[in-house]
Amino acid sequence: MKDTYRHKGLRKNLVEEVHTKGIDDQRVLEAIMRVPRHLFMDTSFVQYAYKDQAFPIGCGQTISQPYTVAYQTQLLDLRRHDKVLEVGTGSGYQAAILVEMGAKVYTVERQRELFIKAQSFLPSIGYKANFFYGDGYEGLESYAPFDRILVTAGATEVPEKLKVQLKTGGIMVVPLGDSNSQVMTRIEKKGEDEYIETEHGRFVFVPLLKGKSM
Ligand code: SAH
Repeated sequence: MKDTYRHKGLRKNLVEEVHTKGIDDQRVLEAIMRVPRHLFMDTSFVQYAYKDQAFPIGCGQTISQPYTVAYQTQLLDLRRHDKVLEVGTGSGYQAAILVEMGAKVYTVERQRELFIKAQSFLPSIGYKANFFYGDGYEGLESYAPFDRILVTAGATEVPEKLKVQLKTGGIMVVPLGDSNSQVMTRIEKKGEDEYIETEHGRFVFVPLLKGKSM
C-alpha cells in the first residue's frame, strides 16, 4: 500500500483534530503529519487509520489513539538525539513518531508476533529503531541509562527497574491504575533516588503484563 495525497490530506485533518483537543507541541504535530498511520494497521481497519481512535492490531492488542500518542509524546518533552526506551512496541507507530522526532529508540514488546512484525516493518518504511522481545518491566539494563522512558501500556505500579534505568534529569511517562483506567503520570528523576511525580488526566490502555508471551 502507498502513501498518497489522499492519505496526507486525511493526516492533516487528524493533526488539526488533535491540535483542537489541546496538543500544541509543534514537533509532535509535525511527526503525526509525517508518519503514515494507515500502513501500521490491519488491512481490515485501514479506512479508520485517520480517525482519532485506537484499533485492534492482533494478539488482543491495540494501536493507541493518535491523541493519546500525541499526549504522551508531548509530556515526554523529547529532545533530538535523546535515548528513549519504549515499553510496548505494539504496531510500532509510537516508535516511528519518536524516530521521526530525532530520538534514538529502544523498544520492547512481550508478544513475539508483534515484535517480529514491527522489527521488519519499521525499517521497510524508513524508520530505524532497536527492537527487543522481552518483558518491559525489566527495562533494558545493558542499554541503560535512558534520557526518556515511555510506557504505552497501563501499569498497576511504577516498574522500579525503569526508575533506576532513567538518567538523572530524565523523564518517564507511564499510565498508572487498574484495568478500567489509568492516570497519566510523569516522573522526573531529580537525583539518584529523588523523583517528582505529576498527574495528567485519565486514559485507558491495555494492561502492562509481566513476563513474555509466545
Ligand atoms: N506503542 C504501541 C501501543 C501498543 S499497546 C503502538 O504504538 O502501537 C501496548 C503494547 O504493550 C501491547 O503490544 C502489549 O503486548 C505490550 N506490552 C504489555 N506488557 C508488556 C511488557 N511487560 N513488556 C513489553 N511489552 C508489553
